[in-house]
Amino acid sequence: MPVLKHMEIGVMFWAGRDPLETIREVKSLGVRCGQLGVPGHVPMDLAATAQWNQALDVEQFTLVTVFAAYNGEEYPDIPTVERTVGWVPAAFRAERLKRTFELSDFAKALGAPSIALHVGCIPHNYQHPDYVAVREMTRLVCDYAARNGQTFALETGQEPATDLLEFFKDVNRLNLRVNFDPANMILYGSGDPIEALTMLAPHVLSVHAKDGDWPPAGVAGALGTEKPLGQGSVGMARFVAKLKEIGYKNPVNIEREASDPQQRLTDIRAGVALLQSLI
Ligand code: MG
Repeated sequence: MPVLKHMEIGVMFWAGRDPLETIREVKSLGVRCGQLGVPGHVPMDLAATAQWNQALDVEQFTLVTVFAAYNGEEYPDIPTVERTVGWVPAAFRAERLKRTFELSDFAKALGAPSIALHVGCIPHNYQHPDYVAVREMTRLVCDYAARNGQTFALETGQEPATDLLEFFKDVNRLNLRVNFDPANMILYGSGDPIEALTMLAPHVLSVHAKDGDWPPAGVAGALGTEKPLGQGSVGMARFVAKLKEIGYKNPVNIEREASDPQQRLTDIRAGVALLQSLI
């Protein structure tokens, strides 16, 4: 695999189609590393592992993270996220824990040094059974990932940085880190992303370069709107400047969630050009 530069530009992309075609499409955007998301319905069996490994090898593509997503998760507004995403909904916990262990094994087989996911909206009340359950699952996944030689990164955005710092202290595991997503801080109204990045800096392992606008005023539970890189409220120049200031050296992974696949590729291509000019 190629040796990556400091702050090499990468892309967050998803499994579900032919691995070789997928990697070639990602490389056509002008990158040679990235993060692979695995939706809940996509198999991670031996056949899939072999196909992905062959594609990564043939294309000399470096996988920096494998992300989990789960069956039953929905993101239309904050109350639905609270009810369906990650490890907060009790009815899904056992199934999602099993799936996460599988993901850790899958990531190890693909040579990825880290796994990541949204654990959901961590409850504010530390005595609440959902808080205790999420903390215990985080410890279990950290320990499982550690045995696979991996770090486990929490995707940011669904809580303010101060809450996340408290959660880190409480979980108390050395391989627990952050995948910092500046747009999510805005989309969930969780605080200024640059201030949050400053506070979370010692814990940041990986980042998403994603953009978005704040939730509309006066609409309870509304999420903000994701935007192409450079067209939202993050301020990509100040984001990149802050990453340099905190000494961040790992890949900067562009994440774009546009529903139209062609638009998504067009936007990522423009995002690569924007980041090249800033980095
Ligand atoms: Mg993200």
